[in-house]
Amino acid sequence: MDHLAEIEDMLAQAKLRVTLSRLLVLDILNQAPGELAAWEIEQQLLNKQKKMNISAIYSILKTLEYKGLVQRFKVAGHHAYFSLNKSIGLVKCRCNVCAQMQHMDEALLQQCIVQYCEAAGLKLKSYSTLIDVICQKCSQK
Ligand SMILES: [Zn+2]
Repeated sequence: MDHLAEIEDMLAQAKLRVTLSRLLVLDILNQAPGELAAWEIEQQLLNKQKKMNISAIYSILKTLEYKGLVQRFKVAGHHAYFSLNKSIGLVKCRCNVCAQMQHMDEALLQQCIVQYCEAAGLKLKSYSTLIDVICQKCSQK
């Protein structure tokens, strides 16, 4: 149960009360290989014999996002996707057709963002970008 202790720690640091629902949602996001939509979280909870209302899941995600524990990605015309906020920046490409996620080499992009913020006198806290693409495989079909 070490991983749950780690999650309790995250909640404590964000000054959030540790509740079973928050633990469950964070645990699922923590073990996910990529972003999850709220309905995917609901499905995984069901697989663990835990039933949670989708609006309750959204409300938990909103709180976690507000506290900076979770990042939200929104692509026009799609569901929002959520992932655990582990680093300052995250840039991913998501295929419009097969929904496959790809990390992007973001060193150059990060440099631009950092420089932009410095020039504009902004204190950079974090960034997240989801880029809507059609992957190589799908574009060949
Ligand atoms: Zn694709």
